[in-house]
Amino acid sequence: MRLHNKVALVTGGGRGIGAAIARRFAQEGADVCLVSRTQAELEAQAEWITAHTGRRALPVVCDVSNPADAWRAVATAEERWGRIDILVNAAGISVAAPSADLSFDRWKACLNVNLDGTFLFCQAVGRGMIARGQGGKIINITSIVAHAGIPERATYAASKGGVRQLTQALAVEWAKYNIQVNAISPGFIMTEIVRDYIERGIHNPEKLVARIPAGRMGQPEDIAGPAVFLASSDSDYVTGTILIADGGFLANGYV
Ligand code: NDP
Repeated sequence: MRLHNKVALVTGGGRGIGAAIARRFAQEGADVCLVSRTQAELEAQAEWITAHTGRRALPVVCDVSNPADAWRAVATAEERWGRIDILVNAAGISVAAPSADLSFDRWKACLNVNLDGTFLFCQAVGRGMIARGQGGKIINITSIVAHAGIPERATYAASKGGVRQLTQALAVEWAKYNIQVNAISPGFIMTEIVRDYIERGIHNPEKLVARIPAGRMGQPEDIAGPAVFLASSDSDYVTGTILIADGGFLANGYV
């Protein structure tokens, strides 16, 4: 029980990486507010949490890229439970397109969700953490594209590079409030985003696995352990760190 009686808010908590983190946080003793645009997915995760862990779960429908929505979601959790100790920004979308053809609308849509949405939640939750003087933990989900180039991912890479640098900027700014701000860069994790890319022929799974020293794609649960570490008091002297969880993909200079 490394997060006993903590209050967490997880954006993107309806499925994939965010859902795996939310479930694991509850297993570690936290109450969890789940945020995304799809009520049915949020309710399914909330039911799982209550049934399997006995912790409280609060589903809140919200578009993270909409400021009023983001503030309302944070206020809903704070009104219900009095505070937020841990924020995870896992809501995200991916766009794959040749950069020469990428429309400006798609460029902006990806930045809006991944970068603006992350900033809005950091700001809204950070304000409360600062005002209450309680400290806190913020964990942003970035990506290996924040470290190395992948073709046809211009807007996704820019958004995730922005999240990486936002993480470090907030880490140094809010260290004096005892708020640790860190990020996780997952590699290729089997979720809807990656399944869709495989189905559309954008990713070749055999080629990818051959490039991953661990010899397999990641599962959402592979990101939950690093998130628990960054959410727990074990990481109180860790801030501004980008934890890469990619089965060795970025370290691999061989293939
Ligand atoms: P999924 O598509 O499985 O989950 C994405 C989650 O984000 C869903 O709950 C989705 O809910 C939510 N979301 C998307 N847009 C919005 C929005 N505008 N407002 C609120 N919620 C939103 O993807 P993953 O679990 O794979 O991705 C989670 C995070 O991990 C993303 O930031 C992604 O970029 C990152 N990542 C994923 C990798 C992978 O290989 N899977 C690798 C590296 C990083 P809904 O659509 O219902 O709103």
